Amino acid sequence: MPPPAQQSNSLPHWNIPNFVLRVEDLDHEGATIFLDNVKPKEALKLAVEASYTWLYTPLTAPKHVKTITLVLRSFDGVAYTFGTHVDKEIHLSLDYVVGSAPRVKDEIEGVLVHEVVHCYQYNALNTCPGGLIEGIADFVRLNAGYVPPHWKPTGGDKWDKGYDTTAYFLNWIERRCGRGAVRRLNAFLKDRKYDTKIFLAVAGDSVDVLWNTYCQELKEQYEQKGLV
Ligand SMILES: [Zn+2]
Repeated sequence: MPPPAQQSNSLPHWNIPNFVLRVEDLDHEGATIFLDNVKPKEALKLAVEASYTWLYTPLTAPKHVKTITLVLRSFDGVAYTFGTHVDKEIHLSLDYVVGSAPRVKDEIEGVLVHEVVHCYQYNALNTCPGGLIEGIADFVRLNAGYVPPHWKPTGGDKWDKGYDTTAYFLNWIERRCGRGAVRRLNAFLKDRKYDTKIFLAVAGDSVDVLWNTYCQELKEQYEQKGLV
């Protein structure tokens, strides 16, 4: 058999894993809502591509994930991800699907982007603060265009509160330092322990100075709009 044709250099060739869908209760209302509104293969592929696009280049993209299994079942909460280096499993709550009904497609696709990022992001040998892990996942969700209505940049006491709070901060760093800043932060989390100096290396200031500057800018913006 001849070797496969070379991929064009103009389009990134991302390594897409096998996807498996397991529905544990087809009688659950959430199963019907999910299957009527979400195309699981397309949603997972989009989520993998978003993870690659915002955290890697075609040269650095990890290829270790072979299978992502999406499990739909009833439990309290939203979703979580676990697995081996090679095989990942995302559990999504059917009850949460029911609760997302008015905007279920956008919400579930956004949740899947967040969970799939966990399959690909680095974690500094498990020493990365959870808030940064969750912030990076929501940074990708934000940039993939899945912003839930309740999200807004808020600032606050802690840069590593996680989720949308940290995601908007990372997005501000990305705009300030240029495309690829969060990709470089993620790269610093590969095969070494976490050190806050990664912010100095990527963004030229300590994370505390960056956070204070960001919060000050937010405050001024809200004041200009008369929102405070
Ligand atoms: Zn998460």
